[in-house]
Amino acid sequence: MICALTVALGATGVALAENADSAAPPAAPAAAVVAQKLGPLILIDPGHGGTNSGAPSIRPDLFEKHITLAMAETLRDELESMGFDVRLTRTQDIYLTLQERGRIANEMDADLFVSLHANASESHSHSGYETFILTPDAIDIDTRALRQQSGRVRNGVTPDTAALLDDIERSTTQLPAAKLAAAIQDNMRKLRGKAGDRGVRQDSMHVLLGATMPAILVEVGFIDHPIEGEELMDAELRSEIVHAIAQAIGTHSRVLAER
Ligand SMILES: [Zn+2]
Repeated sequence: MICALTVALGATGVALAENADSAAPPAAPAAAVVAQKLGPLILIDPGHGGTNSGAPSIRPDLFEKHITLAMAETLRDELESMGFDVRLTRTQDIYLTLQERGRIANEMDADLFVSLHANASESHSHSGYETFILTPDAIDIDTRALRQQSGRVRNGVTPDTAALLDDIERSTTQLPAAKLAAAIQDNMRKLRGKAGDRGVRQDSMHVLLGATMPAILVEVGFIDHPIEGEELMDAELRSEIVHAIAQAIGTHSRVLAER
């Protein structure tokens, strides 16, 4: 759903030409009609936060939650400059449950949910980037349970019907989410190289359960890997990754707007 708001000031400033022959200065030009369109609403979710630090990085004092928030703020700025309406699930180092993140997305009726994460592996030897999408497989009994807390309010229908409508709505989000995920991987491949491409993946990532809009989760890389982790400490590279994600979202904004 696109949020379009057109504000017209009306016929203020209409020029009166009563004394057209007089030497009076010309009337002020008609006030410009202000037309403001808000772009699709994108909710960016910086993974983890508060006591949930997420993956450890190569630096003892720096965790996934710090990286995701910093990247989310950069992504917000870039998407706003592209004309999108952008919100964050958190702007501080606070703990949010998965249900709360899903509830925020549904309550604000976001057009796109983008969760940012960074990876780590037990052996500290894995590297690469991947993008997850919510799959129909993830629409199961857990989702039904989750909607008790995070589902959108649907007036005039029974809870069972509301859950069914949620399922149908989610199924229509699959294609745009898959296209966007593929575009992000394409852009990341150009930036980070083919070797690190772990692909578009389908998984029932819990944070996506309950969301009724296209929802993706980007794992930008392994912050505990001796080489990749060091690279990801560089704010400049993180900005380039954000740019790759933002460009993919920009390319697919029409798909989002047509929902
Ligand atoms: Zn994570």
